[in-house]
Amino acid sequence: MIVDPFAKGGLHQAEAILKAHGVDAYFRSTATRTGDSHAVIDGRTVMLAGSNDYLGLSTHPAVVEAAVTATRRLGTSVGGSRALTGTLDLHGELEERLATFLGQEAAVVTTTGFQANLALSALLGRSDVAFLDARVHASLIEAARLGWGRVRRYRHLDVAHLRELLAAAPAGSGRLVVTDGMFSMDGDVADLRALREAADEYGAKLVVDAAHDMGVLGSRGAGLAEHCGVEDRVDLITGTFSKAFGSIGGVLAGPASNVRYLRYNARPILFSAALPPASAAAALAALTVIETEPERRTRTLDLAEGLHNGLRALGFDTRPSATPIVPVRFPDLAAAGAFWAGLFRAGVFTNLVAAPAIPAGAMLRLTLTANHDETHLATVLEAVEAVGRRLGVPRRPDLPPVS
Ligand code: PMP
Repeated sequence: MIVDPFAKGGLHQAEAILKAHGVDAYFRSTATRTGDSHAVIDGRTVMLAGSNDYLGLSTHPAVVEAAVTATRRLGTSVGGSRALTGTLDLHGELEERLATFLGQEAAVVTTTGFQANLALSALLGRSDVAFLDARVHASLIEAARLGWGRVRRYRHLDVAHLRELLAAAPAGSGRLVVTDGMFSMDGDVADLRALREAADEYGAKLVVDAAHDMGVLGSRGAGLAEHCGVEDRVDLITGTFSKAFGSIGGVLAGPASNVRYLRYNARPILFSAALPPASAAAALAALTVIETEPERRTRTLDLAEGLHNGLRALGFDTRPSATPIVPVRFPDLAAAGAFWAGLFRAGVFTNLVAAPAIPAGAMLRLTLTANHDETHLATVLEAVEAVGRRLGVPRRPDLPPVS
């Protein structure tokens, strides 16, 4: 074997540790809709409290109908790359609508958000340096590795450290600062204004991955860049349809010249089959819902606030998140796994997260969607309280463990 699977950390190792504790957390399958509030797993109905379908749009009637109609009209696949015979009117329409929505001149859609980020590798020439926040998504790390330039990681959210690294870059090098908007595991957010200022000082471009914030943050729902008022000052925004848009696919949006360059040079765009009709039509319909039903966004944010506050009242510190991604940290995988299993037995299915998704320790990542309501929120909190009491977590004088 060329690669020893146990030489490096990986989810399989987490799985092995958990198996030893009788926990089976990964690749659990359901034949029911994962966009709803509940799903059936092994014949049991459990509440889904870990989906990225933040607005619950994957089961929204208009979104489902759009996907079905597009499939009937256009088939199940485009059978090729965008550059050749795989471009539909639907792709163009989606790109125009997204560019406007994201406050950008132009956009290009890709088959997944992962590929949208990989496309950034085309920007990195041999003398360039990419500066990545230490916690950026795996796809951005892969993009930097694929590019020709050098890669520097600045400490998470630490703009002063970014400045130091920018200052130390060789004179004349092209510089690309890359960050997530809302970070996928901890749910904290980047200070895009401060990053823009630092980037400007050192002649760097700024790319923001809005995978988790597009559709969720900002008064129009256009994401963190809108929220921070820097929509017109980012060099590229990348995003995905697999979260708030209830579909699958990705997007890169920005000045027309940047988007045109990527369209013709990024291999993940050129050499991969295009987004199928159903996914493109679903994303378009989702965009319409995002623009016309802001109450969904409000509900998701309200439920998140209730979840944060409820968990904090129980002694779980969910900081630094104040977003719909709600982290509950544990010192190690065994402790997190025991808690996950307790919640699962109580009928609440959360995400159990360990390395390589986070650098150390383990956590549960909870999310509620617009398809949940206050009763569901109360159910999650009751389950957390009951499991916490049983396991003695967190240890507080007013929350004694029950034997
Ligand atoms: N960026 C971030 C921050 C993500 O969390 C994800 C998905 N987990 C992606 C990009 C990739 O998106 P997709 O699922 O569309 O490939």
